[in-house]
Amino acid sequence: MTTSGTDELEIFRRVLERNATQLRRDLPWIGCNDPWAILVSEVMLQQTQVARVLEPWRRFLATFPTANSCADAPLAQILQLWEGLGYHRRAKALHGAARMIRDQFGGEVPRDAASLLSLPGVGHYTANAVGSFAFGERVAVLDTNVGRVLARAVANQTLGARRAQTLANELLPENGVAAHNQALLDLGAQFCRSRPLCDSCPLSDACRWNLEGGDDPAPRSASVSRPQSAFEGSDRQLRGRVLGLLRLGQVTSSRVVADVAPGENERVVRIVESLVNDGLVERKGNQLRLAMT
Ligand code: SF4
Repeated sequence: MTTSGTDELEIFRRVLERNATQLRRDLPWIGCNDPWAILVSEVMLQQTQVARVLEPWRRFLATFPTANSCADAPLAQILQLWEGLGYHRRAKALHGAARMIRDQFGGEVPRDAASLLSLPGVGHYTANAVGSFAFGERVAVLDTNVGRVLARAVANQTLGARRAQTLANELLPENGVAAHNQALLDLGAQFCRSRPLCDSCPLSDACRWNLEGGDDPAPRSASVSRPQSAFEGSDRQLRGRVLGLLRLGQVTSSRVVADVAPGENERVVRIVESLVNDGLVERKGNQLRLAMT
C-alpha cells in the first residue's frame, strides 16, 4: 500500500476546503478572535467532551476575561470555576500559564507555537491549535480526531507518530490554515468518529479507506486515543468528590474521610495526599482547603 502523493493530498485538501462550512460545528470558541478565550477552550477540551466544556468555558471567561485577571486571582477561585470538568491539574496549569503570560509576555498570549509551548499545561497540540486559530500561524493540529482522519481518509494505513505529523504538515494549505485545521477537527468530530458515519460523510468520495476498503487503520494510529478507563469507582471520581467538598469551604481531614467514601479511609487519605502533592489542596493542621497559590 502506498501513502498519499502530492496530488492526492491536494485533492483531499480541496475537497475538505469545499466542505468546511458544512462541517463547521456551532461552538462559541470557533471563529472567536480572542487568544485568551481560545487558549482557555483548548485547555478545557483536553480530555473533556465538548458538551461538558460549554458552560464552564462561559462562566470562566465571564469571571476571567483576560489572562491578567486570572493570574491575579487565587488558585482556589480557578478551582471553583473548574467544577464539572475534572482533571484538575489542568486548572492549576492554566493558572500558571496566566501568571507566566502576565509576568513574561506583558499580559498578551504569545503569538507563536514555540512560545506557547513554554506555558504550563500546553503541549504540541494545544500550542499549534492556539497558534493557528488565534494568530493564523502555519502549524498543523494533530489530536485524536485528526489522527483518525489522516489514518483513514488520507493514508488508509496505520500511522506512527512521525508519519502522522509529517502528513498533517504536508496537508497544510499555504493560506487559510485556521479554517483548514478547524475543518479537519470538525470532520473527525462529526463524521470520522471512532464509529465512522461514512454513509453521510461529505468527504466520502475523497476518502481512501472508503474507496479502497480494508481494516480500519485508525485504532492503532498515533494520536488516536484509547477508550478512557471507567470513571465510576475510580480515583478520578474520588478526587472530584474531595474537591467538590472543599469547594463548599475549609473542612477537617476526618470529615473528608467520612463524607467522601465511608469505609474507604486509607484510600481517601491517599487521594487527599495526592491532591496536596499536586498543589490543589492545602493542609493546615487537620484542616483542608482549596489551594490559594
Ligand atoms: S468516509 Fe468515513 S472514514 Fe472517510 S473521512 Fe468520512 S467518516 Fe471518515
